Parts: sequence; C-alpha cells; structure tokens
Amino acid sequence: MGRYRPVIGLEIHVQLSTRTKLFCSCSADVFESEPNTHICPVCTGQPGALPVTNEEAVEYAVKAAYALNFEVHEYSRFDRKNYFYPDLPKGYQITQYFHPIATKGYLEIDVDGKKKKIRLRRLHIEEDAGKMIHEGDSMNAKSFVDFNRAGVPLVEIVTEPDIESPKEARLFLEKLRSIVRYIGVSSGDMEKGALRCDANISVIDEKTGRSSNRVEVKNMNSFKFVERALEYEFERISKAMESGEEVPQETRGWVTRDKKTISMRSKEEESDYRYFPEPDIPPVILSKEKLEEIRKSLPELPDEKKERFMKDYNLPEYDASVLTADRDLADLYEMTVKLTGRPKETSNWFMTELLRMMNEEGMEVGDLRVKPEHFKELFELIDSGRITKNMAKEVFREVFRTGKNPSDVVKEKGLEVVTDESEIERILKEAMEKNPKAVEQYKNGKKGIMGFFIGQVMRATSGKADPKIVQRIFKKLMGE
Ligand SMILES: [Zn+2]
Repeated sequence: MGRYRPVIGLEIHVQLSTRTKLFCSCSADVFESEPNTHICPVCTGQPGALPVTNEEAVEYAVKAAYALNFEVHEYSRFDRKNYFYPDLPKGYQITQYFHPIATKGYLEIDVDGKKKKIRLRRLHIEEDAGKMIHEGDSMNAKSFVDFNRAGVPLVEIVTEPDIESPKEARLFLEKLRSIVRYIGVSSGDMEKGALRCDANISVIDEKTGRSSNRVEVKNMNSFKFVERALEYEFERISKAMESGEEVPQETRGWVTRDKKTISMRSKEEESDYRYFPEPDIPPVILSKEKLEEIRKSLPELPDEKKERFMKDYNLPEYDASVLTADRDLADLYEMTVKLTGRPKETSNWFMTELLRMMNEEGMEVGDLRVKPEHFKELFELIDSGRITKNMAKEVFREVFRTGKNPSDVVKEKGLEVVTDESEIERILKEAMEKNPKAVEQYKNGKKGIMGFFIGQVMRATSGKADPKIVQRIFKKLMGE
C-alpha cells in the first residue's frame, strides 16, 4: 500500500430491453435507426401529452433489483429533474429521486481469489434523453438533435464508495453486465450505449488522513477505458496532493485517443436540479404477491451456476467462472457435456479452442455454427484413433468455420491417421536407404536419431502418421 488510496463509486445506467419506451408506445429499439423516426408527442414533450408508465419496464427494473440483492419497495414514484439542454425537449427528465423503486443492495465480486461485497445504494427507473450530433468545423459548425433515445427506459444503479481500485471497478462492471444479461433485462452492450458508467473518485492521503475533492469521470465506453481512466485520475490526483495543489471538484471526460481525462465542467450539485414530484404519473404500487412472483421468475444467476458447475461437473473454480460468465455459453457447455459425458475434457476444449476462436472472430454463442453433437463426434474420432489430438484441432477449426460434421471434414481433408503399417514401413525403409549414415549412428548408440526418421515419416504423410506406430516399426526394422 502506498501513501495514497483511491475511493471509487460508480453510477451505472442500464438500458432496459423492453419493446416500447418508458412512457409511450414508441419502439425502444432505436439503435442505428434513422434520426427522429421513433418519436411521438409524449417523448418529445409536446404540451398536453400524457405519459403512461410501461409495466414491462417496471418488471424489468424489479428483476434487476432482486438479482442485485436490493430491497424492492411496494411504493415508488416519479419526479422531475429540471435542467435545460437541447436534447431534453421537456426541460426536465422523469426519474425516481425521492422514492426509488429499490435501495440497499449489494454485488459480490471476486478480487484475486477473494470475495468482496460492493454495497449498492439505490436503483431507480428513469427515461433516457435524446442525442446531439455535431458536424463540421468551427467556421461551419452545425448541430442536430435526434430524439429517438428520448424516453427509452433505463435503470440507474448507484454504488456506495466501496470500490478500492480501478481494477475492482472493472470487475464490478463485468459482473453487473453478466447479471443483467442473464436475467434478460438488457443487452448490456456498452458500445451501443446500453450500459453506461460514470465514476466518482477521490483520493485519501493515508499519512494525513486528508481526502481530495471528488472528481467525476464520464465518456468511457468500455470496461477497459473505465479502468484506464480511473488509473489516470488516481495518479493525477495523488500527484497534485503530493505537491500540495488543490484538486477542484469537477466533471472530467475520458479521451480515448489521448489516453487521458480533460476537464469538462465544475460538478453540479443535486440541489441545482430543483427536483419535484411528477404530477402527471401515478405512483408505482406493487403488491407483495406481484413482487414475489417476479422474484421467483429469476433464473439461476452466475454465482449459483458457478457453484453448481464446480459441484456437478467437478470443475476447477477458474473453469467454472469462465464458463458461467455468459449464460448462453453455460447452456452450450451443459448441452455438450450431456452428450460427451466428459465435463473436464469438454471444458478444456471450450476454454482453449472454442473461446479463442470466438474471440478472434468476434463471435457470440448465438452466432456459432459448431454444435454439441460436433464435440461428441470429435471425441469419438480421437478415441478410435482415427485422428490425433493435434489433427482434432485442425478438424475443429474447420467445423467452427463451416458447421460441417467432424467426420465429413476428416474425409474431405484426408486428415485420417495413417494406420496402414505396411505404408509406414515402406516410407521408413526408403528413408533408411537414403540415409545410411544416420542408420549407422543409431546403431552406434545415438538413439536421438530416431526422431529424424519419425520426422521423415511425418513429412511423407503430412503429419498424419501415429508417432507411436512409427516408433514401434522403426525399432522392429532396427532389430530391437
Ligand atoms: Zn414516444
């Protein structure tokens, strides 16, 4: 531990994947749509338009809250957060300020093998704002506004300042995304803006006990950038404290290109927003029965699944956590094990070949052409000795690319192991005739020469001979 210690809190906006927006029937699936094609009088704030709360959005928020161990309240209510910005046509955002739907949750993360609880202060429902688009240079600048995103439902999740390093912040976000995807309330896709994160960081000087002002960092569109931006801020603030400079309370933006943060504005206070209760929308009232029904509808969550995988399949913790981080991957693994009956071997194939190729191709489980049956067939081909493990990797690559059956790939590519002993013997004899000196050396005790002859057979068969058979025949020919 150095002299300075970061204290980090996060505010995360998660876009709920409901069909329609939070208070109108416009489609909420707006990513990459033509600007201003998903709008109506309600989400563009026309006078007299009346918002109606989307029940699906409320259910999704409750689901997320239970999955994050929150206390969910039977009574919650919407408020107006007043500020002026061109992408906010009403002049206020509808959010839950005074009575959020859930408070006091927590999320457990795994930091270097140790479990750590991050407390969550609140989860509330709110609508998204529109989007500004700026074009042209300073002499000829134009700004546009696209209201498609205005009114898209979000939940905002606020942590307590329990995060003690930039790495913990990344781990927290990865876990949170895994959970919202598991329960199907959000795509959690950061690049598409379905998960956004603002981070607050202050630094404590352990020697004097003094704390810096709090700095808010925005504009980080990947988990890696959250980690980098916080590392950058921690260093910047620590250095300022060391030299006795005052760190202003402000909002800073991460600039990926320059790998640094820049000052955006001094941070607003909550009181700047003049919150007051939204008069047009009745409170959200959920019965105990309804809440219980939603809670019970939750699927097995990543941590539970991980524990079960360790127990049922006897997997190491590392395998289990990689396989259960994504629900689709976990399902594919389970279907595959049902067919192969070999949990650890299946896990090895998943963790090495499958995940590596998925990463290379930027593919998700839903895009895969390789099926559980393919693994079963591949294992059988190896077991029967028709292909070696190394050849199996080549077969798998082709199955992954094309979705063809492994045995068809073996036939098409002529990948079968050469088990024809007379063929191997013929190749060996030929190699011996051509290399009498090497034969002489072997007979004089230089046993390593055998590797040279095995290599000759491998070359002649393009690597398809079984080295064990080659070895046995070689020794026989040498009269051993
Ligand atoms: Zn609308």
